[in-house]
Amino acid sequence: MVADMDELPKTGESEKLLATGMMDGPHGLIASAVHFDIFTLFPQMFSGPLSESILKRAQERELCAVALHDIRAYTTDRHHVCDDTPYGGGGGMIMKPEPIVRAVETVLARPAGWSLPAADAYTNLPPWDADSATAKGDIPIILLTPQGRPLSQTVVAELSRYPRLALICGRYEGVDERVRTQLVTDEISIGDYVLSGGELAAMVIVDAVTRLIPGALGFELGAEQDSHSPGLGGLLEGPQYTRPHTFRGEPTPDVLLSGHHGNVARWRHEQALLRTLHRRPDLLMHLPLSAKDRAFLHQHGWLAE
Ligand code: SAM
Repeated sequence: MVADMDELPKTGESEKLLATGMMDGPHGLIASAVHFDIFTLFPQMFSGPLSESILKRAQERELCAVALHDIRAYTTDRHHVCDDTPYGGGGGMIMKPEPIVRAVETVLARPAGWSLPAADAYTNLPPWDADSATAKGDIPIILLTPQGRPLSQTVVAELSRYPRLALICGRYEGVDERVRTQLVTDEISIGDYVLSGGELAAMVIVDAVTRLIPGALGFELGAEQDSHSPGLGGLLEGPQYTRPHTFRGEPTPDVLLSGHHGNVARWRHEQALLRTLHRRPDLLMHLPLSAKDRAFLHQHGWLAE
């Protein structure tokens, strides 16, 4: 059942794509492995999430790799200052541009997997051109910000096609605007609320992208059958049951025990339609529904069209 890298078809095309870090997935090219470079003032925050369960296994199998880069290590002043008061006044602190830009440009100029040796932090930094941009254009440089484009499964799938991604975690009142104008190529928000820093948002992206890498979930259909995913046509997944058959008087629906695959599949699809109708009718407007699906939804009170 496990679809790990060894079991992927080794056709000529797959080999070529694997060599470039890409392979053919059911919905276009997807990365066979993704390297994340994360820029943060708090690298320790990542240790728990990265060392458990799916993310841990994916790293062990070399399906994903995460390099944590401490932005502060790229300061050269005595007090290693990374923030300053806002021009024009107002509360809070703003992250200074130089340490972030220096960190990102230094790391992205080097092969994936490189990080500044701890002994070189602050004092023995590689040379850097402070006056002109040097970041390579083919690696997305993503700023986590509540002002960014909303993260969705579609955006996650888009990110999973890149072999390398750079994620910048803001802190305090955010980053100096020149980080946006001169370095960043994409801005992503994980929702319409404000976090204290971009670290949790970066972890969300690492987790969601890694799930899409073939083999990361360790079972055949992988993430294809989850809510919002292509295997479910973008619908929410319907109700799921496991043992015991009856819990506090509530039994498992008979159809799931019928052994009739066609009926089970039909029931699951209808439940996915109903669940989406009841919880997220806004999603239905954008999905490629069949005439049969539409008729079913209308029967159950869908008012669209
Ligand atoms: N002053 C900023 C604004 O109004 O847009 C918010 C700063 S927030 C307190 C600090 C940092 O947390 C941000 O720079 C960003 O990196 C991160 N952050 C906060 N909310 C986020 C969200 N919804 N999605 C992604 N990152 C977020």
